[in-house]
Amino acid sequence: MERLDRWMARANTAYYADRDPFADFTTAPEISQVFGEIIGLWAAVVWQSMGAPDPVVLAEAGPGRGTLMADALRAIARTVPAMRGALRLHLVETSPGLRAVQAARLDANWHDGVDTLPPGPLLLVANEFLDALPIRQFVRRGDGWTERHVRDERFVELPASLPVLGRDAAEGETVEVNQAATTLTASLARRLTATGGAALFLDYGPARSAPGDSLQALRDGRGADPLTGPGSADLTAHVDFQAVAQAAEAAGATVSGPLPQGVFLTRLGLFQRSGVLARTLPPARGAAMIEAARRLAEPDRMGMLFKALAVCHPGLPTPPGFTE
Ligand code: SAH
Repeated sequence: MERLDRWMARANTAYYADRDPFADFTTAPEISQVFGEIIGLWAAVVWQSMGAPDPVVLAEAGPGRGTLMADALRAIARTVPAMRGALRLHLVETSPGLRAVQAARLDANWHDGVDTLPPGPLLLVANEFLDALPIRQFVRRGDGWTERHVRDERFVELPASLPVLGRDAAEGETVEVNQAATTLTASLARRLTATGGAALFLDYGPARSAPGDSLQALRDGRGADPLTGPGSADLTAHVDFQAVAQAAEAAGATVSGPLPQGVFLTRLGLFQRSGVLARTLPPARGAAMIEAARRLAEPDRMGMLFKALAVCHPGLPTPPGFTE
């Protein structure tokens, strides 16, 4: 028997090590090159607002196929070449297979976690990374809570060994605690507050903590039972952005957002850039480029459930996209 978060950590480590996750799901940078370009330009503007430190660590957590970073670096090199010269690329990735895919496209150093990133000013980006981190689930029972464990591909509830602070739910309802995500954000926030910089997270989840079981599994592109065949499906959960923001603020950083992804990308020129690119392409590919932008931004597609959240050194101005 294992606590859900420990079980999920093991299952996902096995999954990312052995399988091509992109057979099971598609992410924003794989949908449109403009996504990574916008994030690159976001980082370049923040770098300038930091006083253009040289060197600066540019990091990505969970880089997948390296597509976001390849697109970001191209945009940075074209528009702010001084930053391209100043940046040192560091990638946080646990999967050996994905590290190899990334190494074929990117000249970088690799890390197992954010705590070994080199010291100094830091810009970190992460798309669909926090949702892969393990969660704990508590169920409201009578006057207290139980915590979900996994045994033989089934949930088992044990009395909760810690109070579920600041949360409430109706009898039998589940609340999720994104403990790994809040621990990681707090640690990053402490570091950004001490030595400068900013982090940008894009992921899906509600803006405010809410009860509900969001653990989901994708196998061969389809929803599956999360508990069956650990390591054979991609396990994710909604990111509790309120909890992540609180953890970062408690550590001294300034938080912007969460803001719907569609609003964030549209403010930063998703449709203008996609339109410019579309005009250079044959008509069918141009139309696909515009369609990709709409998929990322429209509220009933990826524009609303996905959010952008920035964690910054308290001396920095509000980063691009978070003000009107
Ligand atoms: N950002 C990419 C990939 C998202 S998939 C994209 O948008 O396409 C999640 C990524 O996070 C994968 O690269 C996976 O190997 C990595 N990952 C998952 N859990 C991790 C962990 N605990 N530590 C480091 N990387 C992790």
